[in-house]
Amino acid sequence: MWHGAKKKPWIIMSDFKSLNLHPAILKELEANSYVTPTPIQAKAIPHLLNGKDLLGIAQTGTGKTASFSLPMINRFASNPIKLEANHTRAVVMAPTRELATQIHQNIAKYTASLDISSTVIIGGVRKENQIEEMKKGVDIVVGTPGRLMDLMHGGNLLFNQLEIFVLDEADMMLDMGFFEDVKVISSRLPEVRQNILFSATMPAEIEALAKGLLIKPVKVAVAPESTTVDTVDQKIYFVEENDKYDLLSLLLNDESIERALIFCKAKYGVANVIKVLDEKEITSGEIHSNRTQSQRDQAIADFTEGKIRVLVATDIASRGIDVKGVSHVINFNLPEDATYYVHRIGRTGRAGKEGTAISLCGERDLSLLRNIKKLIKVEIPSILDHPFHKEFPPISAKKRSQGPRSRNRKRPSQAKRRAKQKFIENL
Ligand code: AMP
Repeated sequence: MWHGAKKKPWIIMSDFKSLNLHPAILKELEANSYVTPTPIQAKAIPHLLNGKDLLGIAQTGTGKTASFSLPMINRFASNPIKLEANHTRAVVMAPTRELATQIHQNIAKYTASLDISSTVIIGGVRKENQIEEMKKGVDIVVGTPGRLMDLMHGGNLLFNQLEIFVLDEADMMLDMGFFEDVKVISSRLPEVRQNILFSATMPAEIEALAKGLLIKPVKVAVAPESTTVDTVDQKIYFVEENDKYDLLSLLLNDESIERALIFCKAKYGVANVIKVLDEKEITSGEIHSNRTQSQRDQAIADFTEGKIRVLVATDIASRGIDVKGVSHVINFNLPEDATYYVHRIGRTGRAGKEGTAISLCGERDLSLLRNIKKLIKVEIPSILDHPFHKEFPPISAKKRSQGPRSRNRKRPSQAKRRAKQKFIENL
């Protein structure tokens, strides 16, 4: 059963059996204890089975991967074709390697007993194996833009037989500067195809992209841009920047923090947090842009298997982590972009389970906190009863106007774009 069913009165219009899916898919869903479609699945699957284009607004954790992959698998299972070398029937593009891997793992799970091939094409690992794999033709290719482009330019990824194009986490694609790649790849696709675009938020740039990419799309949404997952218990601790390490150390004495994901602003911040964890002999792993792909994969595997209690990350990995049982998300620094707060805390409280999000708010975080509150439109309770509590004076109007601007801003200038790129490189 979808775990949220007990807690929330989901208005479910169907179960998987009534969705007319291939019996082998139903069997795999049953084996994975999926009985009830999540709201996004109930809304999207019937339209996608009808071959419609789709614009989906949903965060990770809502079950959106199955919502776009099950209809695709259903189509390929009911209508197998012979693929030519280097050709594919579907491309799923995701912004991060972790996310692409995660999507592929899900697709592999759903196709376990079907004769449907799939692969993941991402950077950070040798491309020779990927090229070799493509030689047989692969039904479903999941990948990140850079490596997909690379294989496409090399003639190892050809689209003449392509039927479905999925763009996942389009807003993060935009943030990470992948839009040009998306445009280049989509311009190479056959005109007649099914297009699916998912985004957690819908800034103007994504709307424009969707207009160019999708034909008469059905729009489905499960949560407006600003909502935070409501199974997450959110808390704020006000603390001096220098006291954050001691406060973190104190908080981690709480044994109910079984599996915690800690977010830092930049990679050097991760190293400092890891030092605190080492001193306390807390098992941990780290993911950020200085780690190789195999180190990142190992850290996520260790975290998933419960070999480490804490995973420390920068935002680069925030959307790719789908680990069951993350009890706590700790924001060591608040994110520069308020929407990242929503994505970060969405790593806990997944699939209807409860989770806790703790934010350590120093003076530098105050204006970021203001933007977050404006976005999520709920008060986050602050915890005053701790030895490091700091009362900060309210931010002045002058300072406020200098604070990082929220997402509903105008197009950033050249200089700001460059600054943003630099920021991303630091992750
Ligand atoms: P996603 O939003 O696609 O990342 O999915 C979030 C998590 O929910 C993943 O661990 C999925 O395996 C799980 N999930 C998705 N759909 C269902 C369902 N109908 N029933 C139970 N679990 C699900």
